[in-house]
Amino acid sequence: MKVVKFGGSSLASAQQLEKVLDIVKADPERKFVVVSAPGKRDSQDTKVTDALIQYYKHYVAEKNVTADQEWIIERYQAMSDELGLKPKVMTKIAQAIKDLAKLPIQDNLFLYDSFLAAGEDNNAKLIAAYFNQNGLPAVYVHPKEAGITVTPEPGNAQIIPSSYDRIEKLRGYDEVVVIPGFFGVTAEGDICTFSRGGSDITGSIVAAGVKADLYENFTDVDGIFSAHPGIIKNPQSISELTYREMRELAYAGFTVLHDEALIPAYRGRIPLVIKNTNNPSHPGTKIVLKHSRNQQPVVGISADDGFVSITISKYLMNREIGFGRKVLQILEDLNIGFEHIPTGIDDMSVIIRERQLTPIKEEEILRQLTHKLEVDHAEIERDFSILMIVGENMKSHIGVTATAAKALSDKGINIEMISQGSSEVSILFVIKTAQKNAAIQALYEAFFPKN
Ligand code: ASP
Repeated sequence: MKVVKFGGSSLASAQQLEKVLDIVKADPERKFVVVSAPGKRDSQDTKVTDALIQYYKHYVAEKNVTADQEWIIERYQAMSDELGLKPKVMTKIAQAIKDLAKLPIQDNLFLYDSFLAAGEDNNAKLIAAYFNQNGLPAVYVHPKEAGITVTPEPGNAQIIPSSYDRIEKLRGYDEVVVIPGFFGVTAEGDICTFSRGGSDITGSIVAAGVKADLYENFTDVDGIFSAHPGIIKNPQSISELTYREMRELAYAGFTVLHDEALIPAYRGRIPLVIKNTNNPSHPGTKIVLKHSRNQQPVVGISADDGFVSITISKYLMNREIGFGRKVLQILEDLNIGFEHIPTGIDDMSVIIRERQLTPIKEEEILRQLTHKLEVDHAEIERDFSILMIVGENMKSHIGVTATAAKALSDKGINIEMISQGSSEVSILFVIKTAQKNAAIQALYEAFFPKN
């Protein structure tokens, strides 16, 4: 059995829904379909989820919401008309959209989530009706009925592990089960969403719950590329990645899949494949627990901006027991997480994401380092990017760092810092952001030479 999840761009129009129907029909193993809200039809368009946010804002500000309701209803109506659906489903959808404006505003922690979730919820109703009308028996199942019980954290729900046993019962349906993504229901019965883009998480949870043989995540790209296509022209697409490789690449800017979506499938030992709704015969990228064959040492190169370095030096730092802990304590007290800590004998650099700093926090860090920890020098350096080369097979190859360092030095790119974990799944370089694109190009040429 397979769980298939379709993202917003795959569900944005009647034409896209026709492709979805063909994909589900093409394989009887595709028993569970998790759907996003309708996405953008073109770059100028608005996602239904974003339109719902506007609707929510106007509602809580007690403004007139008729135009918001009409725009959203019309998005579904246009698809329904083009697909020739019977009017019943649209009556239900229109009512559900209007009913949002009857929910209590006061003391309602889950009001925003209830608005947001309506995008996927109504799309699932429409898609189940469309399937049924076109020779594919289907049933719409709300997350409450499906047993997707989550913690009561608005906008950041987490699955409650006991849900999985209930979700497994979905295997009992004879029809194709259509489930709205992006939200679950708390033990108290409130609608609570995952973080943005969270339909991927629902797909992963359902795949783990029903013990699927495969979780197919349909997007609008032919899988994952070995480098960003905006920087490298026609990069190779990756046919197979391990969960660990995917996690490393996602950390540094690969955003095809929601970060949290890997966990349920990984724990359930369910392989995952990323495929293209617009090109379904392309094999896509498979994410597996272990590589099925010997891979090249580097499978992908990623980079991310917006890092700063807190650079600290103190004579005899290495002999001062507890020094590192005290530095991290300063950050913890200011609620700042760290990303990497490359060290020397008498110096250390703490790499953090710039968005965590405020001018006040910055001043406080430097004040405490100088006065409490009595360092010789402390400064905050900005405009850093991290650059990562990723591949499980690096372990068994000598010279990967040498190749990377040579490629960078040949292009005159200075490596500010370098770090490799003992698992050897990735090597991380810190470079100046201005040199990021040139660095990716240099590494790509070195590790993915044209034959
Ligand atoms: N519709 C939601 C969002 O835009 C969730 C999703 O598409 O996965 O964030």
